[in-house]
Amino acid sequence: MLITPKIRGFICTTSHPEGCAAHVQQQIDYVKSQPPLKNAPKRVLVVGASTGYGLASRIVPAFGGGASTLGVFFEKEPTEKKTASAGWYNSVAFEEAAAAAGLYAKSFNGDAFSNEMKAQVIAAIKADLGQIDMIVYSLASPRRVDPNTGEIYRSCLKPTGETFTNKNLNTDKGEIESVTIEPANEEEIAQTVKVMGGEDWELWINALAEAGVLAEGFRTVAYNYIGPEVTWAIYTDGTIGRAKLHLEATAGKMNARFGDKTALVSVNKALVTQASSAIPVVPLYISLLYKVMKAKGLHEGCIEQIQRLFADHYGAPDGPTLDDKGRVRIDDWEMRDDVQTEIAAVWDTVTTESLNSVSDFAGYQTEFRRLFGFGLNGIDYGAETDPLRRVPSIPANET
Ligand code: NAD
Repeated sequence: MLITPKIRGFICTTSHPEGCAAHVQQQIDYVKSQPPLKNAPKRVLVVGASTGYGLASRIVPAFGGGASTLGVFFEKEPTEKKTASAGWYNSVAFEEAAAAAGLYAKSFNGDAFSNEMKAQVIAAIKADLGQIDMIVYSLASPRRVDPNTGEIYRSCLKPTGETFTNKNLNTDKGEIESVTIEPANEEEIAQTVKVMGGEDWELWINALAEAGVLAEGFRTVAYNYIGPEVTWAIYTDGTIGRAKLHLEATAGKMNARFGDKTALVSVNKALVTQASSAIPVVPLYISLLYKVMKAKGLHEGCIEQIQRLFADHYGAPDGPTLDDKGRVRIDDWEMRDDVQTEIAAVWDTVTTESLNSVSDFAGYQTEFRRLFGFGLNGIDYGAETDPLRRVPSIPANET
């Protein structure tokens, strides 16, 4: 099959197996080019392990610290006529590279919110690893089925309080337009908290604790975003921000139970991922951010961010450095005054005409395509390729 990108808005319905493999390999190569991790966790579970920050959180401890990894994700398998989703091909590539390096890796494709998935993962930990030292919780999902009631909850990306109007980038047309979003009602806020808050994170930790598979001194981390004021209405002060407040409160609850700094919330940089490209305003902000950070030599992708999380915080002799609200801040370079001042100056004046000169929209688009395995060096996109690939640890009849 000839595989080409089919992009509409923030969705690409195809992905390229060799391209995804090359993307994963680049991340592995970056980690290997860094000093080996000190005090690295040796048995790591990543929930949301196939793309974005979660995939990076699987690659870093594996290839930087020799960790055994378990990865949970929700991806589309390939058929003879349709490609898999990118996270499937990423996981094929990750597992093949792990096997070649002699590293244990097991993956689970299904709903992380379900009781069945938790039971399956716990059974694998008991059978193969005994216990785990670290759990990374990196889910980004638009919906959640409550595992006990079967009720379906949907998250939304809306402001709370007042109607929000701001600049937005139409990524299909490359045009700046205005976007107006009505505020969420209480029900929508509650639903978003149910999906993207800390409830399921806590359910995972409770299930693992009850099963006796959490090692003494284990740690767990989940990810948050804060960003500058132009994004607050839609993010920090919006429905998703309410969910993240719940996530932070959940970390506090877990720390009270398991000990200080057991549960961490890391505030990460805004980056092009499948999840972030769906958030209004964020693609324009990221395009401006990339331009400024690249010019200053400060730009990082998911893999560089997570490398810093493990090297500077997880592995630090005194443990992670926390801000006044108890969070790890690897968004520190993004939030530097000089970076934000430059972005704010351009934000007010950017137009469709000036977009390409004042922002890195080209870099945004390149990154977006790379998420699906397109635009990678050394890949012959004109050649036929077989979409049918298997994740080695997932039996053909399992999903
Ligand atoms: P992503 O879309 O790249 O990854 C989401 C992952 O969740 C994938 O592995 C997907 O398979 C998995 N997933 C989704 N629903 C699932 C389900 N029901 N069961 C099992 N797996 C499921 O997203 P991302 O941007 O890497 O986001 C990960 C976390 O990082 C989120 O909490 C997000 O808020 C946070 N974060 C993202 C950014 C950013 O700019 N991208 C910045 C800061 C924090």
